[in-house]
Amino acid sequence: MRAIVFHHFPRGLLLVALAFLPACKSAEPPANVLLITIDTLRPDALGVMDGKRETPVIDELARSGRLFSAAVSPVPLTLPSHTSILSGLLPVHHGVRDNGQTVPADIPLLQQGLQQRGYRTAAFVSGFPLQAMFGLDRGFDHYDDEMRDGEQGWVERRAEDTVATSNAWLHAQQPDRPWFAWTHFYDPHDPYEPPREFWQPGPRGTYDGEVTYTDYWIGKLLEVAREVSGDRPLLVVLTADHGEALGEHEERTHGFFVYDSTMRVPLIFSWPGRIAPAHGSEPVQLIDVAPTILELLDLPALETADGRGLGEALSDGEALDLHPALMETWLPWTYYGWAPLSAWLDREWKFIDAPAAELYDVSADPQEIRNLASEQPAVTDRLGIAMDALTTATQRVAATSQDDAAMQRLRSLGYVGVGAPVEAPPAGLADPKLRIDMRNTLQHGEDLLRMGRYAEAQDVFADVIAGDPDNRFANLRSGIALLRLGRIDAAVRVLGHAVVIEPRRAEARFALGDALMRAEKFAEAADQWAVLAELQPRRPEAWFNLASALEKTGDAARAQGAMAEYERLAAAQEAADEAGKAKP
Ligand SMILES: [Zn+2]
Repeated sequence: MRAIVFHHFPRGLLLVALAFLPACKSAEPPANVLLITIDTLRPDALGVMDGKRETPVIDELARSGRLFSAAVSPVPLTLPSHTSILSGLLPVHHGVRDNGQTVPADIPLLQQGLQQRGYRTAAFVSGFPLQAMFGLDRGFDHYDDEMRDGEQGWVERRAEDTVATSNAWLHAQQPDRPWFAWTHFYDPHDPYEPPREFWQPGPRGTYDGEVTYTDYWIGKLLEVAREVSGDRPLLVVLTADHGEALGEHEERTHGFFVYDSTMRVPLIFSWPGRIAPAHGSEPVQLIDVAPTILELLDLPALETADGRGLGEALSDGEALDLHPALMETWLPWTYYGWAPLSAWLDREWKFIDAPAAELYDVSADPQEIRNLASEQPAVTDRLGIAMDALTTATQRVAATSQDDAAMQRLRSLGYVGVGAPVEAPPAGLADPKLRIDMRNTLQHGEDLLRMGRYAEAQDVFADVIAGDPDNRFANLRSGIALLRLGRIDAAVRVLGHAVVIEPRRAEARFALGDALMRAEKFAEAADQWAVLAELQPRRPEAWFNLASALEKTGDAARAQGAMAEYERLAAAQEAADEAGKAKP
């Protein structure tokens, strides 16, 4: 049986290797880098996999470079996974375990290294979890997160608009400086609503249609990136933050389980002349992306990264330095109060640490259907111990606020802290796989809410609450449904319970603040906006609403203090926008 060892690249060897690099690499001007991430992209949504889908642009990109068709995502959630992509760190080490948290300020990010080396850096993101206020904007000269509120409050930006703003920036670049651009697409994330002409046949046609639509606009982006690069080399990296279950293991979307249907993603490195075209299904990882980009550019590594550079293997055909993959999701805990899940993948086994452990034979059972945990207790124990050793010693949950000015302001207004935005889970929680039916019921309620069918949604949530009074998700969503129905007193009562059972969920504070404002209970509303401001200090609405609530209570001085913080945020945002436009 293969021992589990984390291989460390011998440092001495690395120095020697660098000393003998062929001279042509350094004679070339530094390459431009285009990082494309497509939210919620399954490998099998790409035509290049089996010819069943229509993605001609990505297929061509894959054939021009190295395609890993089964790369491993460390976490099936948008902000935590992108934090791993840009830092090379596992969630246990960067501490961002859920959307809505703030990326810690002390984590080195890829774009910072590139910026320090003279790169112009820009990001164009398309989904709410990646808005600048959550902290991935650090190290980008320009961070474009302008998106529209959907009809039901769904905040995202279409590929067409994201490409338009990306291309405008690319066209404004001067040829004397290299650039790093990250463009993120959100379209394949549910709800699946591609423009009609992109619909694909089959039961998953609307999902595939979103991918085909995104592929079309990536073509327009690549055209401009290649055109403005001129003689300068261009490295294109394309990947996804996580996949989409589409019903596998009874999971509809992603985030709830850590099965391969949501944890395996495509990963492409294209640099014609430097990276030899090849296609493989080796389990390289998203934490390898940032180290690989730096290695390909011959730039210093991210000292703290858990991932490793694949650059030598890509350019010189060396063997890949594969290592076991660690995966997790805290969503069952943070949304529902059930047990979080983590998983360990090596060449032979995938072990899932759940209240009832799971063990799958990677090669014989890639669908993860036959749980061997009770047949192979020794392997199960060994992997459980190996995983514990890695995670418990170094566990991190991002601290509340990374923003000292905001915290000082809150203290000056007399508000005290709520602690970390995400609590570490206790032992003895329910096993998510035994609750998948309830998760699906709640997602159905969420769909009804999104479609504006509030009364029906409320019925679904009330049913769940009747059997499970402290269900976090049901209480929060029931409160929102009641708010939309205009049943303000009932909303205040349900949301009041929601923040008691889940004090650190920003959305719950937001909804309760909203309900209390409508109930004209302004002092109580102010308390909720203050907690929101602590959990998400760069969220402008938190400060604006806090000022409004304090104003209504007649406390003009404190209202002014909160308004000053709102204005500071707004001014900083405006300055960032101007910087992006003025000197691209
Ligand atoms: Zn995502």
